[in-house]
Amino acid sequence: SNKPKILVLGAGYAGMMTTKRLSQQLRPDEADITLVNKHNYHYLTTWLHEVAAGTATPNSSRVMISDVINTKRVQLHFDAVVEIKKDEQRVILENGELSYDYLVIALGFETATFGIPGIKEHALKIENIDSSRHIRDHIEFQFARYSSGAETSEDAFNILVGGAGFTGIEFVGELAKRVPELCKEYNIDRKKVRIINVEAAPTILPGFDDDLVEYAQNSLEERGIEFRIGAKIQECTEDGFIIGDDHEKVNAGTVVWTGGVQANPVVSQSGFDIIKGKVTVNNDLRVPNHDNIFIIGDCSWVMDKENDRPFPANAQSAIQEAETCATNIKALLRKEALQDFSFDYKGTVASLGGSDAMGTIFDDKKLYGMKAKAMKNVIDDRYLYLVGGPKLVLKKGKVKFF
Ligand code: FAD
Repeated sequence: SNKPKILVLGAGYAGMMTTKRLSQQLRPDEADITLVNKHNYHYLTTWLHEVAAGTATPNSSRVMISDVINTKRVQLHFDAVVEIKKDEQRVILENGELSYDYLVIALGFETATFGIPGIKEHALKIENIDSSRHIRDHIEFQFARYSSGAETSEDAFNILVGGAGFTGIEFVGELAKRVPELCKEYNIDRKKVRIINVEAAPTILPGFDDDLVEYAQNSLEERGIEFRIGAKIQECTEDGFIIGDDHEKVNAGTVVWTGGVQANPVVSQSGFDIIKGKVTVNNDLRVPNHDNIFIIGDCSWVMDKENDRPFPANAQSAIQEAETCATNIKALLRKEALQDFSFDYKGTVASLGGSDAMGTIFDDKKLYGMKAKAMKNVIDDRYLYLVGGPKLVLKKGKVKFF
């Protein structure tokens, strides 16, 4: 057809919500909408630490895209994006190509290694369903191999986790729950299994308030997590990390890196300007000098003009950016004024495994333990409601109604 073509790349939090809003807000005669994603499912990136630890299954953490997107209004295209030819308004896919009039790039993150030697080659990473399932299977393999009588090293059960930011902490929290279950299943002494979290900064969870940090650390240490704080990872090898100024070698059968994120590599490979791993977009979420390209979610920085710092990049902001992005595409089509993005911070809650969690909600109200965990479940279910309505909450939701 000769209608304008809107192409959305990536069906994560940002891409799904943009597509959903466009399909609700635009008349069918205003534009064609196409959503491109690598898989036919949408996964809950904020739940991946559970898949990696084995406390949640891959299926509980993903949703078929055709179940929640109106396929009469949106064309779904399941293929991997290889390159964006922005000067030709074309997108190259693994198995074809598409052209566009308006483009939304929402391809999410890849793990940043900060140039630490060996991380890229040797560390496992919590990036998507497949890489997370790989971690779960790798850990279980160590147990299965030992209990089958195979010869294994003393350190095979050790699990090393690099990075004590949000993802690293939520992951070791889940391991604190999962490891005792594995020990029971494979009849292995819990004391044989060390879970060691290594962080270069002077505390875990940089950016969180002191009392929340202290609560989290105590709770995790009580459940057997060891911390090596203020210890820089110098190198990652096949069987561990070399850490600290004295280059101590810590061996492990499982080595996971959670240290940081940067834009999907497709973005830099397509010639966009990258600063600190991402593209800085205008406040209307468009790329400078490209009036028809939006970059949202973990691929971009949006600056908060009030303090000249970027807004936080997380699921909460990705969802809110999607609203602004859809509104602005509608404004472009209708020749109306565009809006600037503004972030409505609703708080942050980190799970610590089992029924424990901590964080802040609303105006800095602090929550700990089961109350915080209940709030975390509400946050998770609220998102399911946004993408899939009450049906999806009942199917995949975490709050137990009965
Ligand atoms: P994503 O949700 O990662 O989606 C990217 C999509 O692009 C995926 O569907 C992927 O399959 C697709 N894709 C990737 N490459 C290609 C390609 N080449 N071609 C086609 N499709 C492709 N944030 C919070 O606010 N609260 C939390 O509690 C929280 N917890 C987290 C816990 C973990 C373990 C992690 C890893 C992150 C957490 N975050 C949290 C951060 C949050 O998940 C991200 O900021 C958010 O997912 C960003 O959304 P996005 O849409 O940009 O990317």
